[in-house]
Amino acid sequence: MLEKLGAKTAIVRLSADLERIQGLVLPGGESTTISRLMSEYGLFAPIRNMAASGFPIMGTCAGLVMLSQLDSGTYPQTIGVMDVVVKRNAYGRQIDSFESDLDIPALGTKPFPGVFIRAPKVSSVGPAATVLSRLNNGNGVVAVRQGNLLGCSFHPELTSDTRLHSYFLQMITGP
Ligand code: GLN
Repeated sequence: MLEKLGAKTAIVRLSADLERIQGLVLPGGESTTISRLMSEYGLFAPIRNMAASGFPIMGTCAGLVMLSQLDSGTYPQTIGVMDVVVKRNAYGRQIDSFESDLDIPALGTKPFPGVFIRAPKVSSVGPAATVLSRLNNGNGVVAVRQGNLLGCSFHPELTSDTRLHSYFLQMITGP
């Protein structure tokens, strides 16, 4: 998606990889695995510091889990830099995955195709974060922004709609 929009991309596996990027996407997948690998490769401290010093980070689905606090327990360890609490897998199991058109005013009036795959549910949003979108049935916040941090519980990269990635690129380059 980012390349389609003209950005150069690189995969981050080691902390040295962080030195040559201007923005970071924490992708969807499995937060327990992401957390374990981040811990093993010493990525928690550098990414936490970057987040705190204004570096643009976008987290999608498991990536949003990594940016947030967990509603219960301390597993998996998250970066926890967003003033957002999430409950993992709270819309149900893989089979309960769903699609829903979303109203995201920051992206214009056209509905955004939300693809939710065993998504986390945002259980609360603190004062430091701003809600960008909620499900139309009222069943939860699905996109949040906190300064340099952007999170969504759905998978924008699985659609042909580039607007959320474009919004993130503007957080990096300015409008
Ligand atoms: N259920 C996964 C988790 O908690 C997230 C799923 C996804 O990223 N699509 O990490």
